Order: sequence, then C-alpha cells, then structure tokens
Amino acid sequence: MGSVQIVTTILAAGITAVAVWLAVRAVMKMTAVIRLGQPAPERFADKGARTRKMLVETAGHTRMLKWGVVGAAHWFVMVGFIVLSLLVLEAYFEVVTPTGGLPIVGHWTVFGLATEIITVLGLVGILVLMAIRLRNRPNRPGGRSRFTGSTMWQGYFVEWIVLLVLIFGLVIRGFKVATDHFEYPVWATPVSHAVGAILPDWSDGASVAALIKIVISMTWLIVISLNVTMGVAWHRFLAFPNIFFKRDPEKPAGSGLGPLRPMTSQGKPLDFEEADPEKDQFGVAQVEQFTWKGLLDFSTCTECGRCQSQCPAWNTGKPLSPKLLVLSLRDHAYAKAPYLLAGGGKDLTGEEKATQAQLAHLDVLSLAEGDKPLIGTAEEGGVIDPDVLWSCTTCGACVEQCPVDIEHVDHIVDMRRYQVLIESSFPSEAGVMLRNLENKGNPWGAPQNTREDWTKGLDFEVPRVGEVDDFEYLFWVGCAGAFEDRAKKTTRAVATLLNEAGVSFAILGEGETCSGDPARRIGNEFVFQMLAQQNVETLNEAFEGREKTKRRIVATCPHCFNTLGNEYGQLGGEFEVVHHTQLLAHLVSTGKLTPVQPVDGGVTYHDPCYLGRHNRVFAAPREVLGDSIQGELTEMPRNSERSFCCGAGGARMWMEEKIGKRINVDRVEEAMATGAKTVAVGCPFCSTMLNDGVNGKGAGEQVEVIDVASVLLRSVKPEQPRGDKESTPVAG
Ligand code: SF4
Ligand code: SF4
Repeated sequence: MGSVQIVTTILAAGITAVAVWLAVRAVMKMTAVIRLGQPAPERFADKGARTRKMLVETAGHTRMLKWGVVGAAHWFVMVGFIVLSLLVLEAYFEVVTPTGGLPIVGHWTVFGLATEIITVLGLVGILVLMAIRLRNRPNRPGGRSRFTGSTMWQGYFVEWIVLLVLIFGLVIRGFKVATDHFEYPVWATPVSHAVGAILPDWSDGASVAALIKIVISMTWLIVISLNVTMGVAWHRFLAFPNIFFKRDPEKPAGSGLGPLRPMTSQGKPLDFEEADPEKDQFGVAQVEQFTWKGLLDFSTCTECGRCQSQCPAWNTGKPLSPKLLVLSLRDHAYAKAPYLLAGGGKDLTGEEKATQAQLAHLDVLSLAEGDKPLIGTAEEGGVIDPDVLWSCTTCGACVEQCPVDIEHVDHIVDMRRYQVLIESSFPSEAGVMLRNLENKGNPWGAPQNTREDWTKGLDFEVPRVGEVDDFEYLFWVGCAGAFEDRAKKTTRAVATLLNEAGVSFAILGEGETCSGDPARRIGNEFVFQMLAQQNVETLNEAFEGREKTKRRIVATCPHCFNTLGNEYGQLGGEFEVVHHTQLLAHLVSTGKLTPVQPVDGGVTYHDPCYLGRHNRVFAAPREVLGDSIQGELTEMPRNSERSFCCGAGGARMWMEEKIGKRINVDRVEEAMATGAKTVAVGCPFCSTMLNDGVNGKGAGEQVEVIDVASVLLRSVKPEQPRGDKESTPVAG
C-alpha cells in the first residue's frame, strides 16, 4: 500500500464511521417516532400478498410509469441506486489498492457490462429528472408547480449526489483503463474506455477518485441522517415498508381508496354502544393518535407533489394541498417527538401525562410543539388550518397518484371525526344536512312518505320488496334519486330501461334511508353507523335466505354504490352491488337493450370519483355511451384515473365553497372546451354540480348535462318525451 492509499484508506474509513454512526442514530430516532402511533394489527395480515405487491409496485414502478418519461427516468435511477451500491462498496477496495475490485463478481465481464449499462442509463435518468425539476421549479415565471411547497434544496442535493456518484464511478474505471489495470473488454464497457482515453496515466488516480466517490456518498448519508424529515432521500428505504403495509394489498390499484377504515381505538374498531370518549379515542386530535402506519406515511413522503398537481382543491385556489398537509403532519410529529418520547402528551380527558421532572430537560421548542392544536388557525398556532381540513372532497386523486401509497383520505377523515364528534366543529351549513339525516333519514329533510313519488306517471308498475315473490335486483334508489328533481329523471330512466329489458327488480320504497355516505365523509361516524345499521337490517331481511351472489343491488348513486358494496360489510351486510351503468352495459351487450337512434352533437363523459377512481368502473359507462352515440366519445383531458372532481364529494355538496374558484366551474370549462353538446354523468351529485356550472356560465341552452342512463334511453326509445332533460337548477 502506497502513501496515497494509506491516506485515502484512513479518510474513507473515518468519514464512513461518522456517517454510519449518524445513520444508525437517525434510524433509531425514526423508528421511535413511528412507534409512537396507535396499533394497526390488520397491517400484518396477508404477508404473502403484501410482499408480492411491494415487489411488483417497486420493480414495475406501477404508479410512476403512469407519468411516462419521469417514471422511466426514476426507474433507471432507482435500479442504479440499488445495483450501483455495489460499486460504492467496490470503492472501498479501490482506496486500498488502485487495482482493487469486488471479490467474486468484481472481475466478471457480465458484472462489468451490467454496471456499465445501468450507469449510463442512470446518468440519462438523473439528468432528465434534474431537467424536469428545474423546468417545474416553483419560482419559474407563470404556471403552477407540483413542487410548490417542497424543500427544493433537498431535491437538488439528492440529484447532484446521484449525478456525481455516477460520474465518479466512470472516472475510477477510466483511471484503471488509463493505467492498463481494467479487466473488462471494450465491447462491455465502451464508456469507461472512452473516459480512460482522456485521463492521464496516473497510478493513484483510481484510489483518489474512489475516495471522492466515498466522500460524496457518505456526505449524502450524513446529511440525510441529520435531516430525518428529508423524505426525498429517505423514501429510498421507507417506500418498501410503506407499500408493504398498505391497507389492501390485494387490490390492483388505488388500494387506499374505496371503503373508509372504521374508527378504531387501540387498534380495535369502536363500538358506539359501549364507547366512552374519556377512555376511547374518537378520531384523531393529536398527531400521535394516528396509527404507526400514518406516521410511516408522513415520513415516506418524497415531496414529489404528484398528489398536489391532481388535487381539485389546490387547483382551484383552496388552501388544501395533500402534499403540504402530509408535510405539516410529518414536521409536527418529528418536532413533537422529544416531548412525547419523554413521556409527555395529553390523555383522553386532556390532562398532561408527564410529570414536571420528566419534562424538565426538554427544550422549549419541543414543549411548544406539544401545545399546538392539531386543527387550528394560524392565530391559534394550529398544525392544520380548518379551511385545509374542510376543503377536501375525498376524491382520492392524491391517493391514486402517490407513488409510495400514502393514504391521505383516511388521515383527513380521521381528523374530521374528532372535530365533528368531540368538538362539534365543522362548517355550520353542513349542520342542516346532519340534522336532516338524523331526523328524516335523508340530507334534504324531505318527508319519508314522498320517497316513491318518482314512480308516479310511469307506464308500468314499480314493485316493492315484499310485493313480489322474487326479484333479480334490488333497485337502491338513493336519497338524491328519490327527492332531487334531476336525479329523479335518472331514476325513472333506469327503471324504464330495466323494465324494457325485462329485468325483474324491486325497490324498498319507504323502507330505504340514506346510505350514510355524507355523514361518514364529514366525519360523523355515529350517524353513519345509525343509518347503516338500519339499512343493513332492512337489506338482510329483504335478501333473507339468499347467498351473497344472489343478493344483488343496483344503485344509481356512486356514493351509495361504494357504501353499500364496500362499507356495509364492516357492519355485517354482504351484497353484490353494481352501478346502473354496469348493468346497462351488460343489458346492451347481451342484446336486451338495443340503441337505435344515435345521440348526436358530441358527448363527453365526466367520471364520478366514487365510481371511477374509488371503484375502478371506467369502461361500463363509456361502453353505454359509445353504443348510444354509435361513435367515439370526446374525452376531456382529465379523464378516468385522472378525472377531476365535480366538487361535491366528501360531503362538500353540503358546504359552501367560499375560497378560490368553484371546482364545478373548472370542470365545466374543461367539458365545454371539448365542444360536446352533451356532458354525460353517472352520479346525481356530479349532475347537480355540473348543471350548476353550465347554468352559471349561461350555457344551459347549448350544453346539456344528463346521466348516462338518460342518454341510453333516448337512443333506445327515441319516441320517449324529452322529460328526461335534466336542466332544472336545484340547490345543493
Ligand atoms: S382527496 Fe381529493 S380533494 Fe382531498 S386532498 Fe386528495 S386530491 Fe385533494
Ligand atoms: S404524498 Fe405522495 S404524491 Fe404527494 S408529495 Fe408525498 S410522495 Fe408525492
């Protein structure tokens, strides 16, 4: 070993020792913070499926590849990081001797070729990512950036480190080529040979370059260890467990969507008959009341801003960005952690748990963080502003886009639950809806005995369950379908089409009550449970003696469709629920319904969030429309998984939209820009919102917003009077 190698070896060992010590400390700190969360025992079930999903999602980059070039570039950088870690290891042999290499594989041509390819593709990938980050930098002139609010220096730092590590990998090889100590052939390592051709014949060059590569790598490790909230770097490790512990590994995509998790306390579902707010946790009032998976979610956020770029609230000037919400919770959790780890925190009655002695050595910043209300305005020192919390439509675009499977909607609803159930703090206008649900069983407060009024004037009988011996489908009408003027036209259209196709169906009539979706999404789990239990009882009675596959329900409202199909199982109600567009598509494809008259003027389709993203029903409504117009649909730029919310979900239908641009107007502008004369919808809430938007723009005469069923009915029965035109404005 020469004198240069003695120095390079000592320096490499020194900086590595410091970096490893700091990294171990950081991992212990992170683990301690995540362990502060509440239990989530269900996350340990189905380990095989979880492992498969984690491998498929990471190796296949299933979410990221939806972003085309960025996804591909990130894939090469990820593979580069994993495989080229071996080359960092090899650098430790090269600081000792400039001709050193990894034992066993280090002289194998296949290894040389593979690492050469990955290095080159990794270089291209990181340059693309750097260019994209620069092009989308928040301070660029004009336009909104998905990186607004991200800690930009951290992103630039990580990218430069990757770039330099890759470059120095080639420089080390180049010095070996220049000194004639490189064992791989030119055909396998052409770039290394090209670099070697321009480097001097310096015998210590490889050792010095290897030291620089180690210093760069260890600087990265030191910086991220000193910044445990640096998700842009830590996600390289945390993404694996975060995807492994996602809540439904069996679902193909968007598995953080669909059913909401039940309210839990100490990891067990809450039973409202026995629950006591002084002993049981009602929603989330403190950051440590999230489950450990929630805290892992916050730690894993890469600050990429994909969620933010798709969020309807953020895109219309509301203060909510799912990314910034996650970052606020993450920063708060880590700042509050010393206080919590010292034994601090409030019990469920609001009393401090720690003694004065336990808190005596804590710094004031940590103590102050412990005093911050989780939900509160800036003046109150709150972590999350109430306007942020209540701006969410639970549309799920954030969950759908997040490459590391963060479950934003669950966290938002958990915080809403505490605000509604314990603090009674929510937008006052929604109080009317909740009172109506409790007293009248529907959000409008309409008399129950008018639930069947929509059947009046139909030229066939609509049977009630109990009046017929048998029925194939129970037609779940829903509150909007029964009471709201526009939605009633959809209900009539669906009933007419089912009758036309000879499908036997029956309704519950006055036996039906609200599915509970708006109560659950606003956070009032108590009212949801009350309504849902009543419905489950009624439905179980209606289907008595039938196996699950014969307990078929057709629903026109995606919110009912989602709640009955995905959430009633939590209360013992197992049903086969289809959306009316799915049933209609089946009836058309099997020849039971025949569209005859093409609907002209162009049709575009707005995907309802709870039908599309939450339940992956994208094809059926498009098939029905395609058959009805006997041609191609005109798609909006934001469609299917990337559809833009109408603004009504998450009980936003019942709240005023006081901040920013109205979401429905934004969506209507996009729909009108297609030039289509018909905007088809598959949800009564979307219908109301988009109709209001069209009318607000004074375009009610040029553009019509109607349900897919009404479009089909016009094609199947063109002689039908145009009473199905859904143009009467109705207050939401
Ligand atoms: S669910 Fe929709 S509205 Fe809510 S934060 Fe996510 S993207 Fe935004
Ligand atoms: S929450 Fe997910 S999508 Fe949003 S910034 Fe973080 S990692 Fe990206």
